[in-house]
This record gives sequence, structure tokens and C-alpha cells, in this order.
Amino acid sequence: MRSYNLSIEHQCPQCGAPATLEETDRLFSCAYCRVRSYLGVRDFFRYRIPEKVPEAAPLFFIPYWRFKGMLFSPGLEGIQHRFLDVSAPAVALPGIPPSLGFRSQALKLHFVSPDARGHFVRPQRTLDEAVERLLRPRRRGPEKPVSPHFRIGETVSLIYAPFYYKKGLFDGVLNRPVPGRLPDAFEPAALPGGRPRWRIRFLACLCPVCGWDMTGQRDSLVLHCDNCSAAWKAAANGFKRLRVEHFPGAPDDTLFLPFWRIRADVEGMRLDSYQDLVRTANLPKAVQKGLETLPVFFWTPAFKIRPARFLRLTAQLTLTAPFDATVARVPKGRLHAVTLPVKEAVEALMPALTTFVKPRKAFLERLDRIRIRPISFSLVYFPFTESPHEWIQRRFNIVINKSALRLAGNL
Ligand SMILES: [Zn+2]
Ligand SMILES: [Zn+2]
Repeated sequence: MRSYNLSIEHQCPQCGAPATLEETDRLFSCAYCRVRSYLGVRDFFRYRIPEKVPEAAPLFFIPYWRFKGMLFSPGLEGIQHRFLDVSAPAVALPGIPPSLGFRSQALKLHFVSPDARGHFVRPQRTLDEAVERLLRPRRRGPEKPVSPHFRIGETVSLIYAPFYYKKGLFDGVLNRPVPGRLPDAFEPAALPGGRPRWRIRFLACLCPVCGWDMTGQRDSLVLHCDNCSAAWKAAANGFKRLRVEHFPGAPDDTLFLPFWRIRADVEGMRLDSYQDLVRTANLPKAVQKGLETLPVFFWTPAFKIRPARFLRLTAQLTLTAPFDATVARVPKGRLHAVTLPVKEAVEALMPALTTFVKPRKAFLERLDRIRIRPISFSLVYFPFTESPHEWIQRRFNIVINKSALRLAGNL
């Protein structure tokens, strides 16, 4: 499957200069006035595809979910993984195109804003429902349930596509009739919706504590204040401080990679201590004294990497349990951007468990009774040494191929 990044046309909030953003951009530096601003969003971005609809035609927008991320399906033979890049209607309306097709790739999108023209149909399907329908096997006869799977979203957004109705449905980009039969007496304005209330928020990139300029790469979900050695993530109303730590590096370590350490409540299986984990995974580790008092921490990468590698790193780190002392601040040195939100990282914990819990068959049978609830988390940086083709973390035996990391931005 080919994957793509969207581009978004917008204006600098400071000087109004036009700019083009990549879908993954969070930190925007204006080429004209040099002011940097951070794109704050509570849940996901909402875009609209620019329309070329005749003035008099009743323009309306249908929402589509866009999901780009990893899909894991555990089975007896092991875990299947793939990268998913799909779009699906967020409304149940027969006769509309089943996906956005190539439209969203070829055009520059705009952020949704309250001053946009047209009737914006309100989403009726959650992302889960929309993707579920997409993954359901298409066979005749009774609908079959989808086999268990887990999605880890790297990019999730809502894209509004323009249409108008004139004795039939017309595509508002191409100005051409859309094949497919709409319900009789179709009246777009009667669909629930209206003027969008959502708008993009720009946050000033200043440390909320000391007022210094915060730093970060353009696609980073986390900004750093070098003055306070603190890490901040955008929240509903400004920035929220993250708990951040790092393992001290050696002189030849030249890159810090971010990981999430997640403390979680696991319901439906006994996982109260690290000793339980060792037992569950049937590790050939001699049961050491003290393991029963060590809590279980889940670890996942906080950066994008190919699905198979992501899952292996999650399982490996969770089982090795790096308990060495950390330093409770952002490390000094080169940092890799945090590009995977912790919310999505939590979704990776179940598929990771299925890779190491023994016996696998019994575990898969009671998968639907197991719940993982995150309690707390922190961002932990690990120092890596550079080799010609790899980044190496000697202490915890992690090797990450450079090309895997480089390509991860656009898999
Ligand atoms: Zn500007
Ligand atoms: Zn500060």
C-alpha cells in the first residue's frame, strides 16, 4: 500500500503570510516574520478539501476519517502487522464515495474554520466504527465479525469533502456527478450539521514557566525548554508539563531517542509485579529475590518506526525492564523528536503482550476479558551510539537500523 502525506495551506497567525504545512507539522516557523507557533489540537486535526462549486449550488461537506498507522492482528501463528493508510466515511449515507480516493493527496487542504462556506455534515461514526467496517471481510451471507486486531494511529484526522446536490450528487472538486444512488428525497441541508465550530489553535512557543523560547523539530509532539530542562506537550489550553527522565550517556553517545514508560493496571490477568511478568512470559530468568516487589512498567518507542520493529522494541524493553537510575530532566544533546503520542502507545500494550505471554493459545482465548488501563507515564530518553548503519544502545542491547528510523516518517 502506498502511503502519502497531506499538505495544508494556511496563513501565519502573526503576519498573515501564506504557508504550506505538512500533515505531520506541529511547529510552524514563518518564513517571513520568523515567528514560531505551535499547532495545538485537543484530539485531531480537521481539514476541508477546497471546492470549485458554482456559487448558487448548495454546497455541503461530508466528513471522512483518515487513519495512518499500524495494524496488529494476533493469531496462533504469531502476530501479523501491517501499515494502514486509509480513509472512510464518518457518516452512514448510501451512495457517497466509500473513500476520499486521490483527491486529498492531489490538493492542498485547508484547516476547517467557522467562516468556511457550506453545510458541514456532523460525523456519526466513530473512527473505530469506520475502520472496523473497512476491515470486515467482504463476503456474501451473514456478516462475519472481524478477528481481533489493534490499531496504533500515527496520524488521525477528519477530512471534509465537498459535494452539492442537483437531481443527483455532484463532486465539489471535479464538478462531476458521483455514481451511486442516494436515498429518495435527499436533502443535504437536513443532514445533522451546520457551520463548523472548530478552528486551529496557535500557541506561542514560550516556556510557560520561564518564558524562554522552546525548541523542537517541526513534527515533534513535545517541546523542550533548555533553560528549565523541561518537556511540554500541547494540551487543551496551552502546554502541559511532562514527566521526563533520561539514562545518562557515555561520551560517544550522540543521540537520545525517546521512549514512553507506562505504568498500567491490567485487569483479567495477574501482572502485579515484575515477577508475575517473568512468569507469564516464561522467561528463562532465574527467579531473583526482590522481583516480586518490582512493579511492571510497559515501555514503547515514542517515535515512529516500522510496525514489526515497534512491537519487538516494546516487548523487548518491557521484558528487560530497565531499572537503572535515571536523571529527572531532559538530557543535553541531540534529541530525536517525539512523534508517537502516549495515548497511541498505550494501544500497543495488548499486541505486545500477545507476543510473549505463554501459553499463547489460552491467552488469545481470553483476550477480550483483558483490559489495560494506564495510570501514569513518563518520557524517558535513552542514549545511543552511532555506527555506520545503526544506532546502538549498549546497556540495554537495543539496535535500531538508521534507515528504519529515517524512513519512518513516511512509511
Ligand atoms: Zn509570519
Ligand atoms: Zn523554561
